[in-house]
Amino acid sequence: MDVVYSETHLLHAPRRFISRGEWADNPEVPARAINLVAAARAAGHRVIAPDDFGDAPRQAVHSPEQLAFLESAHRRWSELDGAGAEVLPNTHPIRHLAGDPASYPEGVVGQAGWHVADTACPIGAGSWEAACASANVALHAAQLVLDGAPAAYGICRPPGHHAFNDLSGGFCLLNNVAIAAQHMRGKLSQVAIIDIDVHHGNGTQGIFYGRGDVLFVSVHADPTAFYPFFAGYAAERGEAAGEGANLNLPVALGEGDHAYLAAIERGVAAVRGFQPEALLVSLGFDAYEGDPLSPLNVTSGGFEAAGAAIAKLGAPTVLIQEGGYDCRTLGRNLTAFLEGFLG
Ligand SMILES: [Zn+2]
Repeated sequence: MDVVYSETHLLHAPRRFISRGEWADNPEVPARAINLVAAARAAGHRVIAPDDFGDAPRQAVHSPEQLAFLESAHRRWSELDGAGAEVLPNTHPIRHLAGDPASYPEGVVGQAGWHVADTACPIGAGSWEAACASANVALHAAQLVLDGAPAAYGICRPPGHHAFNDLSGGFCLLNNVAIAAQHMRGKLSQVAIIDIDVHHGNGTQGIFYGRGDVLFVSVHADPTAFYPFFAGYAAERGEAAGEGANLNLPVALGEGDHAYLAAIERGVAAVRGFQPEALLVSLGFDAYEGDPLSPLNVTSGGFEAAGAAIAKLGAPTVLIQEGGYDCRTLGRNLTAFLEGFLG
């Protein structure tokens, strides 16, 4: 299987984020992708660099304001008196309030609060370039499958599934899997996304919530007391033309392989019923029992079984890397998943 990887991700190395009221080291580090590509090479997969797909695929998913902000934010931030090294929001519009007349601000501090949901995705000098490369990795993997490959894997970093049309967050700047899915829709009439990262793919859900041509299924830890808190509940089934094309399968905190795999089997059944022409997998390894962010106890064997369950669909499949923050075991868990997936 071809594995798409760009060293440009090295330009994005966020330093910190706030966790439970304390500054903590940001776990979305370059070593994640370095370890994943090493494991892919060790398993004998061909590693290739992505083509540049240009601006249009990003513009098909994200708002012009979001893209202009991400591209210019660090330069503008650096021009502020006393600015820190990374763009971080510290005030936000309360957009859910009915009648709130929130107006779009001109300054970069206000725009950071508008366009970034939390402190987990600091924007540094090379973050935009890395985010664009990550989207190109996803697009190239998708193009390989459109061109006839049964499967391809994109080592996307930064990850993407928490990024909405006009809002970044949760280590994610651009929504790679959504950009790839939209690209595939140019040739295919309907595609499905199954997200097995431990966090709900709230950005992906948001982007496709009103559409019936892209099925979104997410298996994740119950958001009642876990990120992203405000989405990921079973009652969220889509709206308008998307009614029924969104399926959330939350797993209770503390559960392990059995509950995780049962939810994936339900998700696989939903994908089968939708009859997509291609499948995209938001592939996170942060459900792992040793992951610093994990409230679940999934084992490497669990990821192997997850790969096998998804492979049973027999669909042309694009694997898109999302989370997974235990660098020591990311390679092992990727190898396990691919062994299950490729048989
Ligand atoms: Zn995650």
